[in-house]
Amino acid sequence: MLGVRLLLIGAPGAGKGTQATRIADHFHVAHISSGDLLRAHVINNTAIGRTAQDYMERGDLVPDEVVLDMLRKPVTEAVAAGGYVLDGFPRTVEQAEAAYAVAKDLGVAVQVAVHLAVDPASLLERLVARGQESGRSDDTPEIIKHRIDVYEQRTKPLLDYYAERERLITVNGERPIDEVTWSVIVQLQKAQRLLAD
Ligand code: ADP
Repeated sequence: MLGVRLLLIGAPGAGKGTQATRIADHFHVAHISSGDLLRAHVINNTAIGRTAQDYMERGDLVPDEVVLDMLRKPVTEAVAAGGYVLDGFPRTVEQAEAAYAVAKDLGVAVQVAVHLAVDPASLLERLVARGQESGRSDDTPEIIKHRIDVYEQRTKPLLDYYAERERLITVNGERPIDEVTWSVIVQLQKAQRLLAD
């Protein structure tokens, strides 16, 4: 299948990164994670990283223009190579609208948004465990709670945005990793008409 352009929507800890990697491998397209790219900018102490760092440490969203600027090149390159699975972007309706404005004329707008649905109680449990293993500085209980609130307020409205455009599929993200991946792939095959756009 050529030209697969997907994005994943899920709360912190829903498993976006894990599933995005697997789905991108399945379709032989690039996995683009806004969070991973931002963390790399912080480590490399770039201008983007210096602006983003404080927001990330607080669990707040990095300003739209910074994220859009950062993603332009990787997304353009991925499109030229056959497609993308976006993980962590868009995170607000404003980001979705801005991305659509850029992508639609080029015919590279997203085809399907995949919602990984996970119960809030499981999220906190997963993230506290991850924080102990990974040492990610935004995986402390207070910051995690704030990131979940930011998700509820700023990112969740995206579900309606894509549902209204008939581009949303929802999978149960509580099940084992393999089953979640498989269920995304099966649902995408059922929604072939979307991938044909
Ligand atoms: P998680 O989904 O577990 O919160 P991510 O790795 O996706 O983790 O994101 C980590 C942080 O990076 C976010 O809390 C936010 O500060 C920043 N970030 C990532 N993507 C975006 C985006 N699209 N817009 C604004 N900020 C972002």
